[in-house]
Amino acid sequence: MPSDEEKLSLCLSPSQPLQHQCGDGRRSLLRKPFDASLGGFGSTLASTQTKNSTQFAQPLSKTDVNRLHCTTIVSNPFQENTFVAHLEGRDDCLIIDPGLEPDKITAYLAERNLEPAAILITHGHSDHIGGNHALKARWPECPLIASVDDAEKLTDPEKNLSAQYGLPITSPPADQTVREGDRLDFAGFELEVLAIPGHSPGHVVFVWKGASPMVVFGGDVLFAGSIGRCDFEDGDFDDLAEAIHSKLFTLPDDTLVLPGHGPNTTVGEEKRANPFVGRPAGYQDS
Ligand SMILES: [Zn+2]
Repeated sequence: MPSDEEKLSLCLSPSQPLQHQCGDGRRSLLRKPFDASLGGFGSTLASTQTKNSTQFAQPLSKTDVNRLHCTTIVSNPFQENTFVAHLEGRDDCLIIDPGLEPDKITAYLAERNLEPAAILITHGHSDHIGGNHALKARWPECPLIASVDDAEKLTDPEKNLSAQYGLPITSPPADQTVREGDRLDFAGFELEVLAIPGHSPGHVVFVWKGASPMVVFGGDVLFAGSIGRCDFEDGDFDDLAEAIHSKLFTLPDDTLVLPGHGPNTTVGEEKRANPFVGRPAGYQDS
């Protein structure tokens, strides 16, 4: 069995202090939502412990972003972020990366009278799929969507790393698989799929380009001040860095990144200060 510290490091860069990424485990498990209709990202994101709140203190110009409600539900023991996103006036929602404490997710949906339109999986590691079984049992018609290259991890405890951590986990199989360039349209969101391998070969992110600023549901690719671990058997730092540079750092600087662990960040902030892939590591805008 791994130590608690090893457990917490499942998806994080091994060279980054755990405290920085994971918090101390005592923070609120159900963080306040950022709610664009209540004054924009500036005031509301500041309440979600983001360290870069000034990045979001700007007027929002597009109606669809003003209707966004997005809540982060943090699951132990890996401090994994599940996102529940819905648009004002609608009762359907997206669930991104259901974590290991699905009761928190179902409770939130019940409280808000929300129905999931789709469950989106960024990658197949166990801390991001641990809630799939419970959610599919509750909403069997809700499609479970994962990338074509990581789908096999959902049903294989060795490949999703849960067996190695002493708690084998499987998920129902994906109902739909996606790949680079695919478009998804659920709950009023039009999302583009981008493949960002390196932490896991089939890792994808979901980009809502119809928002201003754009929003990336990012999984374990780019964190605030860090990146996803690349030292797993199927990991590759060069792949990760190249994909971040070519696909994320080419998005507008104010693009909001909602990562699978830790606080929110922006593309511009990570270009400026990320020690692994940003300017401190030699990155230059082309
Ligand atoms: Zn991961």
